Amino acid sequence: MQTETPLTTRLRAKIADTGPISVAEFMTLCLLDPVDGYYPTRDPLGSDGDFITAPEISQMFGECLGLWVIQSWLDMGAPEQFNLVELGPGRGVMMADMLRAMALRPECLSACNIVLIEASAALQAVQAKTLGRSGAAVEWADRIEAVNDDPCLIIGNEYLDCLPIRQFICTRASDQQNVPATWSERRVGADENGLRFETDQQPISAALQQTLPATHPDPQLGDLLEICPAAAQLIDHLKTRFMDAAGRALFIDYGPARTEFGDTLQALKRHEKVGTFAAPGDSDLTARVDFAALAAQARAAGLSVSGPHSQSNFLRALGIEARAVSLLRGNPDAKPKIMRQLHRLLDPNEMGALFKALCISSADLPAPLGLPDGV
Ligand code: SAH
Repeated sequence: MQTETPLTTRLRAKIADTGPISVAEFMTLCLLDPVDGYYPTRDPLGSDGDFITAPEISQMFGECLGLWVIQSWLDMGAPEQFNLVELGPGRGVMMADMLRAMALRPECLSACNIVLIEASAALQAVQAKTLGRSGAAVEWADRIEAVNDDPCLIIGNEYLDCLPIRQFICTRASDQQNVPATWSERRVGADENGLRFETDQQPISAALQQTLPATHPDPQLGDLLEICPAAAQLIDHLKTRFMDAAGRALFIDYGPARTEFGDTLQALKRHEKVGTFAAPGDSDLTARVDFAALAAQARAAGLSVSGPHSQSNFLRALGIEARAVSLLRGNPDAKPKIMRQLHRLLDPNEMGALFKALCISSADLPAPLGLPDGV
């Protein structure tokens, strides 16, 4: 069922006016429209919200990442000043937990300039409140390009999954003579019943086709492929940034280790999956991250790539179980709660396997803590 949200009304008018829009444009409006978009109009996180993330599940997640930051800072040669940038910081919980752990190395803490990149003014206010309590000086930047060119550690948890994707449908499979498959863009259109998907009659341009990620097996008629131009733009930026100064970007998100076919757009409301068009602007909208495509692009740009590794392997390598033991020592009554949290973060049937960590570094750095080798 489709609810006629204020954004649905606007989308229908827009489509009637100028024709179907790309899935990327649909996602951008749903998530970020300043008046009717999802993020700017609410705090969506936590048990009272629509979804819950790893740092919201347990302080141990951010604390482990704090240790990762200390080691990465040492790997960069312990610069006297560096930027610690968080992309899409939500309620600021992960940064607060990281900073607490980073206090183990006060020189690291005092060298870091904290920059938050957050599209939602509502969430910026929540971040200011959370981090105000930790006493840290924090600044916000509109975009990563605006951050100064000091050495830089960039972290994004569940950031890439909300960047807008484009979708393509295979309209002709590749044949035995190696003529490549053709693809047409899938768009959001509308009819008297509401919003619906449609596929362009025309195939995409040869130039766009060239940029699609390699896949195995070869595409068959009807297969759906997704790309994320904003993520590709981010990797492009890292290439320049990490050429000029040491740096690392760590992405933790959900998605397969290899490029797969299939429609992965997912709308969530009150922790339940709902239809993509059920409540535009009023439900969260994400897509799986294509880690293989990002890793291939980063490697081709001359950057070092570690992972993707499963979240469970990554957090275990960072010592999350030892952290749990020390928390339990201080508060034995909390055992059931802490064990439940660990289970959610590490169990392969929970977040442990689907969620992965990928690190992209300037070429001259050693393998990052917790992510030993590239794949
Ligand atoms: N990292 C947090 C929040 C994840 S939700 C956590 O793990 O709890 C996604 C976050 O990214 C939100 O803060 C959302 O407002 C932000 N966001 C989404 N698209 C963005 C964009 N294009 N630029 C900056 N922030 C964005």
